[in-house]
Amino acid sequence: MRYSQLFLPTLKEDPKEAEIVSHKLMLRAGMIRRLAAGLYTYLPLGLRSLRRVEAIVREEMVRAGAQEVLMPLVQPKELWEESGRWDKFGKELLRFKDRHDRDFCLGPTHEEVITDLVRNEVRSYRDMPLNLFQIQTKFRDEIRPRFGLMRAREFVMKDAYSFDVDFEALDRQYWNMYHTYTRIFERCGLDFKAVKADTGAIGGHESHEFMVLADTGEDQIASCTVCKWASNIELAEVAQENGHLVDRDTPEADLKEVDTPGVKRAEDVCAFLNVPIDKLVKSLVVQTDKGDVVVAMVRGDHELNEVKLRNALGAEDVRLADDETVRRVTGAPVGFAGPIGLREGVTLIADRAIQGLKNFVVGANKADAHFVNVNWARDVGDVVFKDIRNITSEDVCPECGAPIEIRRGIEVGHVFKLGTKYSEAMGATFLDKDGKERPIVMGCYGIGVSRTVQAAIEQNFDENGIVFPKSVAPFDLIITIVNIKNEQQRIAGERLYEVALKAGIECILDDRNERPGVKFKDSELIGIPVRLTVGKRFEKEGEVEVFYREKKETKTHSFDELMDNIEKVFDNV
Ligand code: ATP
Ligand code: MG
Repeated sequence: MRYSQLFLPTLKEDPKEAEIVSHKLMLRAGMIRRLAAGLYTYLPLGLRSLRRVEAIVREEMVRAGAQEVLMPLVQPKELWEESGRWDKFGKELLRFKDRHDRDFCLGPTHEEVITDLVRNEVRSYRDMPLNLFQIQTKFRDEIRPRFGLMRAREFVMKDAYSFDVDFEALDRQYWNMYHTYTRIFERCGLDFKAVKADTGAIGGHESHEFMVLADTGEDQIASCTVCKWASNIELAEVAQENGHLVDRDTPEADLKEVDTPGVKRAEDVCAFLNVPIDKLVKSLVVQTDKGDVVVAMVRGDHELNEVKLRNALGAEDVRLADDETVRRVTGAPVGFAGPIGLREGVTLIADRAIQGLKNFVVGANKADAHFVNVNWARDVGDVVFKDIRNITSEDVCPECGAPIEIRRGIEVGHVFKLGTKYSEAMGATFLDKDGKERPIVMGCYGIGVSRTVQAAIEQNFDENGIVFPKSVAPFDLIITIVNIKNEQQRIAGERLYEVALKAGIECILDDRNERPGVKFKDSELIGIPVRLTVGKRFEKEGEVEVFYREKKETKTHSFDELMDNIEKVFDNV
């Protein structure tokens, strides 16, 4: 491609609409443009990178034995009613009517459609194992689209679905996909980690997320510094705690209510009462999808984990109670809840870390007041103790006891053992060897293709712009003619360009009539791994400079040598 003809609008300044570096760089490098919230157009450079990731994904999926299909983006309501998700999915599911007043939605995922397909076509155990995938646009009406392609409303996903006769066979497909994902993200040049993930309302079965490590990631992941254990913080179990035994021999003091005027935050309450933060118990009033009201308690310096709480309560959903509910059950304004003196029918659940506490502080269910010297059995009564807090970097690995670390990650892939949830709900069955009808055992496997492109940038940049891994770069090579008006330089550049194209190298010829500084800057901004410079040095010595974007190294090669074997410039990448 000739730069002079390329649709590549680069920007000098950071655009205001972008917060994180990869989003800024994608806009500055002319890869994408925003149409509306969470909707983006891919410009030629952006599309090229997207296609490269797609190609890697496709190649590895096919190598793993999966077959490509393409399903409609628009899906009928009836299928979603069969699975029970038409009402449950929430507002991310964009619902609409067609001209005949029939209900449809834009596909945020395709379990329903694929299960419908398979229930009609797969009859016998002989038709399985089966793994079908597609690479397609998804739509999710995200509440907070942000960070460009990272959390878009319209985005490109690879979704695969596996079908098996039993859980053992599913296990094989699952690990096959797990290893395939590992190869895919390795080929994309990413620094990533596979972590255990929540299986949500479906429950019970296994799931892993593939996380690209980056400080701007929306997920937090905990991993062991010694063994292989790694988990999304959402479900990272806290090792059995012994800290709570420390208070065992402390005598119980008298319960007292104290005035705490104007102090609300945990730290402020502790400072005011002069007690350490680990003697304060925070109480959060939450509601489940079933309408139960629960007071969940964690230590002052710990965070409540909603996923663990949800699982501990066996609920499909938990959320902080609205102000009115808080007032109703506590009899106090929001911010003073505690476990003593609540209205009947409120469930109490507390984190294991506070089980052994004695003489601790809680909110008094009264404005500007706290109880001190609280003790569980004497003052609180029935409480269930469970692991309901976020793991912290002070905790140890639940598997081997070694120190752990907590980092941020971007979820680029997700593998999930679905089991028979959809096949049972939608009647996708097969006849086994004995002629018995059984539900098909399913798995699903997603990759955020467009998110992966941006994640690669979030991990690979410097002060001059993007530093693409070669496999994801929109072009492999850029040939810069320093002075396009110089015949000798121009012809040499053109000849190199021709041999590069012949060798199948994706290549840009920078043939613009621009100052050399501008050309160098642009080539670095858009992150092309290798640049050949044809300038004065060529005129004098017949030499071409080779610049390696990542290492920022320059080498020289003779023009003739490169004409013979241009691929050699990649030896060093
Ligand atoms: P998230 O937790 O980030 O919302 P998810 O768990 O809902 O994602 P999945 O249903 O597992 O997403 O979808 C498979 C993959 O699709 C994810 O691993 C992610 O890479 C990608 N993805 C999901 N939502 C978005 C989005 N809004 N924009 C871009 N990519 C997305
Ligand atoms: Mg996911």
